[in-house]
Amino acid sequence: MPEGDVVWRTARQLHEALAGRVLTHSDFRVPRYATVSLAGRAVTESVSRGKHLLTRVDGDVTVHTHLKMEGSWRVGPVTRYPPRDHRVRVVLANDTWQAVGQQLGIVELIRTSRESQSVGHLGPDLLGPDWDADEAVRRLAASPDREVGEAIMDQRNLAGIGNLYKSETLFLRGVSPWRRTAEVDAMPELVEVARRMLEANKERVGQVTTGNPARGEQTWVYGRAGRPCRRCGTAIRRADQGPALEERVTFWCPRCQP
Ligand SMILES: [Zn+2]
Repeated sequence: MPEGDVVWRTARQLHEALAGRVLTHSDFRVPRYATVSLAGRAVTESVSRGKHLLTRVDGDVTVHTHLKMEGSWRVGPVTRYPPRDHRVRVVLANDTWQAVGQQLGIVELIRTSRESQSVGHLGPDLLGPDWDADEAVRRLAASPDREVGEAIMDQRNLAGIGNLYKSETLFLRGVSPWRRTAEVDAMPELVEVARRMLEANKERVGQVTTGNPARGEQTWVYGRAGRPCRRCGTAIRRADQGPALEERVTFWCPRCQP
């Protein structure tokens, strides 16, 4: 599932292809916007906010998208024929480049001046220019009884962490995902570890937290259920965590993360 680093990189690709150029074609394959055209308008910028993507267009219009579980934006040279894949939700093209959004979890056209109605609930963005660690820690502390594995994935506390960075951050800090946030002594350090990992991965394809990009070596615990912990050899465990119907998978070492 795409996490903050992937979304950050996607925003940059969209920005490089679209910003400062006039759209020559747009295609929204979402019933609500089927008749909307942004052709003739210039894209001013494309930015990420946590796991949300905001592509701003002249005239107070923002194309708000979210990759959710399976979504992606692919940028390539513009083609004469529209993509026929049934998974395509949005096409934005100029005379050079074409951006194709597939399987997007959110496609919404909003007023740029009112973006906060769609993303204003988000906590500080780990990769944002306005990252504020103190504010993230303050928000986490507001729910002292919540399990930390759940709390750090709540985008209202801090924005950008998904299953992988959650599991890896908690392992590196030796904190059990089931511990209450009030019992995590060094929350500022924990949040900083998450930020550093996202920062380290935002420029590259693939997510590496161990420093070793070789296949099967990229993570400490994520995706490694039943395999030996790289530090102590204990079998890594996997479980669902969170409220019913919103459970998210968590990996941890029961020995290193008591
Ligand atoms: Zn271990």
